[in-house]
Amino acid sequence: MPPISPKKPAGPRTVLVTGSSRGIGRAVALALVRAGFGVVLHGRSMSPALEDALAAVRAEADDLPVRALTFDVTDREAAKEALLSDVEANGAYWGIVVNAGRAADETFAGMTPEQWDDVIGTDLNGFYNVVQPLVLPMVRARRGGRIVAVSSISGVMGNRGQVNYAAAKAGLIGACKSLAIELASRGITVNAVAPGLIETDMVDEHISEHALPLIPMKRMGRPEEVADVVRFLVSDDASYVTRSVIEVDGGIHG
Ligand code: NDP
Repeated sequence: MPPISPKKPAGPRTVLVTGSSRGIGRAVALALVRAGFGVVLHGRSMSPALEDALAAVRAEADDLPVRALTFDVTDREAAKEALLSDVEANGAYWGIVVNAGRAADETFAGMTPEQWDDVIGTDLNGFYNVVQPLVLPMVRARRGGRIVAVSSISGVMGNRGQVNYAAAKAGLIGACKSLAIELASRGITVNAVAPGLIETDMVDEHISEHALPLIPMKRMGRPEEVADVVRFLVSDDASYVTRSVIEVDGGIHG
């Protein structure tokens, strides 16, 4: 058996977290900077929420690099341009957390083309638009790396009213499992997390009331509880974990 190389301490390696102005993405950005990673935050625009998240992450950063990028993940050209100019100026990322996403729930019979396209465009095409331009720079840096996608338990189990969202989130899982095979020999791991019902702006009160009895833990999750799992997957502790999906859902996936 080849010798197992000693674990390196988390140095100033930089991780992009898409959709980190709010909710789960913001909690991931904070967890990563506290674990010693540089962080590139991201939102659609430099909103007050993104300014606030940037200040909160900077406050924990000591001398770690922290900055923010803004682009719409559905805009392929804008994403590529913003990402490649950042990589050109600051070097390749060590990790990417593909978290930006949205839902537009409707039973399938009444689902409009816009509801279908918006969700597939953001949650699934967003993966291509963000990760594809960044893969070669990561490979060329020859440092290994981490890619984590925030899928959903809907993508694992399906969910009424979420045919669009479940399709996009299941697609993300297939994308991660395939990319994990392609990048394994480069030391780049690719995994997904599948959160259940998490307390963020995305979840409306009526949905949560209806769903709580179905959750064995009888409560919603907190963004920090998802962030801790993402931090693990990004860390050196997860160096032999790839092509996996970790549910973070209070036991709902059963
Ligand atoms: P929030 O609505 O709180 O935050 C969404 C984030 O995504 C924001 O930062 C938002 O940026 C960004 N975003 C959305 N659309 C775009 C876009 N087109 N371009 C760029 N940025 C965009 O959501 P959550 O924190 O709840 O969700 C984060 C991820 O977790 C999503 O992928 C979601 O599907 C997934 N998830 C959430 C669950 C939950 O119960 N909350 C359960 C399972 C999965 P801006 O502020 O600029 O709009």
